[in-house]
Amino acid sequence: MSKFLNRTALITGGSRGIGAAIVKRLAEEGANVAINYASAGSYEKAYALKEQVEEQFSVRAMVIKANVGIKAEVDHMIDEVERELGPVDILVNNAGIAPFEPFLSLSEETWDETYQTNVKSIFLTSQRVAPKMIANKYGKIINITSTASLLVTSPVIPHYISSKAAAAQLTKALAIELGKYNINVNAVGPSTVATDMCKEYLENPEILAKEIEANPMKRLGTEKQIGDAVVFLASDEAMQINGHLLMVDGGLTVKAAQPEDHMDRGAIV
Ligand code: NAP
Repeated sequence: MSKFLNRTALITGGSRGIGAAIVKRLAEEGANVAINYASAGSYEKAYALKEQVEEQFSVRAMVIKANVGIKAEVDHMIDEVERELGPVDILVNNAGIAPFEPFLSLSEETWDETYQTNVKSIFLTSQRVAPKMIANKYGKIINITSTASLLVTSPVIPHYISSKAAAAQLTKALAIELGKYNINVNAVGPSTVATDMCKEYLENPEILAKEIEANPMKRLGTEKQIGDAVVFLASDEAMQINGHLLMVDGGLTVKAAQPEDHMDRGAIV
């Protein structure tokens, strides 16, 4: 039987990378899915994914454009999702950016955009969906954080790392705030996954080899593994799990840092 039959899931940044894998896994488990995208260039991917999951998993799907860091766009996005698919039962805050800019020349605009996309978005979307989740006495909010929520990971991009730490603490605070309404708020923290976000970085074979070597499992993670963790946290099997940061990182965050774990940023940015 489908885990999420008649449930509506909204996945921000769902057209590609980790978000697209989350869309597929939730749809595979029976959820109707709203696929958010922000860049005009991602519309086609989002639309193709919508058609794919509708056909493959016989669910309802929609695409919706919104910058998740802007309140008016978030409100409009969720209005549209509610109109087409019903209230959001499962919210996955996946959209994120990691501009590879060195600290000493980092612009204020990049700082603000990083926090707007990686942190403020969680506030905006969660606050907007919470009243209906409370009324329905059911809700799952899952934030895609990072190993950077716990460690100063490599490459050292302070704006990204600190934003992911903030997203992790926000997850815990919302878990306490919303738990009494049967809303579970958790996070999934990936280690390096070879998506567009890390493409340039991993193109350097030396860096790729070091990334693999640094991970206790001696491999990178995959998009699907993150989707699997999201499915688990959204399921009834995880109903007593709240405020948890589920690291899907091969054990990277429990390993003591080695001197060679921080790569020479000069090679990357
Ligand atoms: P990605 O391939 O670069 O995709 C980023 C996604 O975020 C895209 O779908 C993009 O939408 C969306 N997005 C960016 N800004 C947005 C905005 N303002 N409004 C709405 N959507 C926006 O990255 P990814 O690797 O899949 O990353 C997904 C999440 O995993 C991020 O939160 C990231 O920090 C986290 N993560 C990734 C890794 C990794 O190694 N890849 C590791 C740890 C954590 P458009 O396509 O419309 O631009």
